[in-house]
Amino acid sequence: MNILYLKRTIANKCPRCGEGKVLDGVFVRRDTCPVCELKYDRGEDGFFLGGVPVSYSLICTLWILPIITLWFFDIFSLEWMLGLCLGGALVLPIISYRYCQLLWLGLYYCFAKNDMPKEDNERS
Ligand SMILES: [Zn+2]
Repeated sequence: MNILYLKRTIANKCPRCGEGKVLDGVFVRRDTCPVCELKYDRGEDGFFLGGVPVSYSLICTLWILPIITLWFFDIFSLEWMLGLCLGGALVLPIISYRYCQLLWLGLYYCFAKNDMPKEDNERS
């Protein structure tokens, strides 16, 4: 396990070199690192679908659960709780999906550090 890869992706940096940005804006993910040319998609169909459970986990933990807790303690009414939960469940995955794909990339290499391709200048 190499937590450094996850730290780099949390900061929107390439997991291998830690310099190139992975996301170019909220909705655009680069295919390769502009610095070390690491291909982010690993050539597997559906690799970045791992961003879906990451997004689901974060939204449930950071949005849905706190709102339900506030409703439980009568800080929100039932209508507000349902509206905020449904609104967040519809909007937040769209906004956070690319960032969650980035987190997935970091999590993948965090637990599968041996899958990280070597940089070209390290091979020779
Ligand atoms: Zn890089």
